[in-house]
Amino acid sequence: MEILTTPQELQQTRATLKGSVGFVPTMGALHKGHLSLIEKSVKENDFTIVSIFVNPTQFLPGEDFNKYPRKLEADKEICKRAKVDLLFTPTKESIYFEDEVLVKAPKVKGYILEGHFRPGHFDGVLQIVNKLLNLTRPTRAYFGKKDAQQLYLVQKMVREFYLPTKIVGCEIVRDSDGLALSSRNIYLSPQERDIALQIPRSLKRAVKLIQQGERDSKKIKEEMLKLLKPIRVEYVEIVDREFNFLEQIQPSNTIILVAGYVGSTRLIDNVWI
Ligand code: AMP
Repeated sequence: MEILTTPQELQQTRATLKGSVGFVPTMGALHKGHLSLIEKSVKENDFTIVSIFVNPTQFLPGEDFNKYPRKLEADKEICKRAKVDLLFTPTKESIYFEDEVLVKAPKVKGYILEGHFRPGHFDGVLQIVNKLLNLTRPTRAYFGKKDAQQLYLVQKMVREFYLPTKIVGCEIVRDSDGLALSSRNIYLSPQERDIALQIPRSLKRAVKLIQQGERDSKKIKEEMLKLLKPIRVEYVEIVDREFNFLEQIQPSNTIILVAGYVGSTRLIDNVWI
């Protein structure tokens, strides 16, 4: 595995790759969720590029940018073992410019849900993903459904900027207790982790209600909120795959999303119906 730290090195090395290229962008502190994306890329492509970059522009003032877990040595090992070909670990200085050209998240879909509670977050996400897609020019790029709105907005950017990459959405990987894996889970105390489990439980409850024939979004959200009482909920919402709010469940075209705080840790999760 080759480790590259500047955009120029990455561009040069990318140009030598003959065959299909899979790309997995991450912020590191890799866990089995990330690994599932990497393994899928390794399986489906001749070469796999992984990036690790805690992107400052997607954090709002007061968020956890400084304390975000950084485990580069362990991450390198994980990537090496998973047969990653190129690992890209740029610095902020190497990949950003002064007064640079900006990508803007769409005014509606970029400012609801995550974008409402983290205004400007998706501007930063799309800015860095655009750069990374241009540097890696992948055949396929892999994103987790865990960050469903991010996946949707990246897909939208790729379509509307006519980028030649296929975006592949990957299933959410959970711990055995149901909690979706996240680099931020390490912030949780054992007691907080117990409380956090109400999030996947509420999503399971929603799935059950739908299986029993319930279609009314309001009723489903009310039932979920009962289970989410110990959590400082930011939103429980039901949207279609294009992130339009739904009053009625549409089978095979619905995403149910939860975001909230357990202590000072912000967690998100969702289920695709
Ligand atoms: P992050 O390092 O948090 O920016 O995540 C990098 C990629 O891994 C994103 O596409 C995430 O959606 C994905 N990811 C994070 N956690 C999970 C998970 N539990 N299951 C599947 N994909 C995940």
